[in-house]
Amino acid sequence: MAVQQRKTVVTETTKTETTTTTKNVDHQVGKTWGRDRDVSFGTILISLGILVMSPIWVLYTYISCNGYQCAMSAPALEIYNAPDALVALKTLLARELPTFSPYAARLFFTWLTFQAVLYAFLPAQIGYGQRTPAGHLLPYKVNGLLAWFISHAIYAAGGLYFGWWKLSIIHDNWGGLLIAANAYGYFLTFFCYIKAHLFPSHAADRKFSGSFIYDLLMGIEFNPRFGKYFDFKLFHNGRPGIVAWTMINLSFAAAQYQKIGYVTNSMILLNLLHATYVLDFFYNEDWYLRTIDIAHDHFGFYLAWGDSVWLPWLYTLQSHYLVRNPVDLTPVQFGIIFTIGFTGYFIFRSVNHQKDIVRSTNGECMIWGKPAKVIRTSFVTSDGKTHKSLLLCSGYWGLSRHFNYVGDLLISLAMCMTCGTKHLLPYFYIIYMTILLLHRIQRDHTRCKGKYGKYWEEYMKVVPYKLIPYVY
Ligand code: NDP
Repeated sequence: MAVQQRKTVVTETTKTETTTTTKNVDHQVGKTWGRDRDVSFGTILISLGILVMSPIWVLYTYISCNGYQCAMSAPALEIYNAPDALVALKTLLARELPTFSPYAARLFFTWLTFQAVLYAFLPAQIGYGQRTPAGHLLPYKVNGLLAWFISHAIYAAGGLYFGWWKLSIIHDNWGGLLIAANAYGYFLTFFCYIKAHLFPSHAADRKFSGSFIYDLLMGIEFNPRFGKYFDFKLFHNGRPGIVAWTMINLSFAAAQYQKIGYVTNSMILLNLLHATYVLDFFYNEDWYLRTIDIAHDHFGFYLAWGDSVWLPWLYTLQSHYLVRNPVDLTPVQFGIIFTIGFTGYFIFRSVNHQKDIVRSTNGECMIWGKPAKVIRTSFVTSDGKTHKSLLLCSGYWGLSRHFNYVGDLLISLAMCMTCGTKHLLPYFYIIYMTILLLHRIQRDHTRCKGKYGKYWEEYMKVVPYKLIPYVY
């Protein structure tokens, strides 16, 4: 392992003066920068559990909502209380499992192809991700916002004006779409596994763990692509996944209208919160290129199946719930949820903006009215080259190392609260996000420690809290 002598420079810059504190530290170039290479037996077992349990959980939520008004415990209790559990399970599955529908399959694959065409051919700005562990700085086509508007305009015009479909089309084909999305999610996972071995896009950025299960789950290739620009990660997370998110919600709102004759204020608020989050994502798509999804995660089942199935089915669970259990919020409840949601959004956006602005100005900017405080770092890529970067340690980033997650958790909580307190299932999203983000803090710590070495330790001394100041 290379051990190199580096300098940590804590710099506070103003227009008129620069205060610089310098001290020498050893910076060890971490071999763990990027995804883990050496995985333990325990990790492999957990990976197997995720591979098996994730599809079962999606199916379970589908069955709970479709057959049991989204009462999460109901299917399990039916089996538990039956005299013969196995017979009860078989009966339940025969009755509730989604069935293959050629129409839904055509819908799904037309949607996927349409999104691919938009991604490939719409005019786009070119954005750049973070430098990869092998030293690549990859260009990305950023045109998601336009794709979102075109997709939604066609969906609305086709449903409201031309009568090509009912606006509830997605809701009406939910089971058939689930099967089609699963088929694609699995196909993509195995295709990427084989591609990584036979025709990788950037061979030096691959990571082989030695475990088939772990590689299948977490991916081998970092940035699988077709040609120069068709990036699997950006496309699958953004297009079939996140563009679909708001459209699914709208379709469920239409289904609620058909069912009860109006759209509840809870459904409207939920649509508003989700749409804000989604539009923010596309408006700031260039920023997304430098988040952990793109800068750290390899492309395996976790993202391939996750973007195709987990995201569209579980992130929209609340709107599914509200069709089955309409909730009329009182003005006070509406106001509280609105305030929590948009306070969360404000924090989420402001924190992420501070990181982006400080990186794009090389630290020469004001944060909360004061010159940005940064730790200037360097890191080495596997091609042996040294690169410079910086870590912001003032503003929100001086409060905790992941204050953006606090904003995200507040928005997520508000989204769940639109469903009232009768059932637990719609709260799945906040539970999942809490686990995901806490785990992410740990993953990010390992990555950044490997990448920045002693600079990261210096940063941890300056900003000791991970999430909530003085708490964690
Ligand atoms: P961040 O945007 O915080 O990115 C972390 C990376 O930023 C680090 O790996 C490091 O990368 C860099 N970094 C860390 N500390 C600093 C610092 N002090 N100054 C400058 N750069 C720093 O995290 P995520 O990518 O996880 O999340 C992005 C957003 O997306 C968050 O708001 C999160 O809540 C949200 N999110 C939403 C999810 C959802 O499913 N709804 C899932 C996950 C995230 P480097 O130095 O290599 O650039």
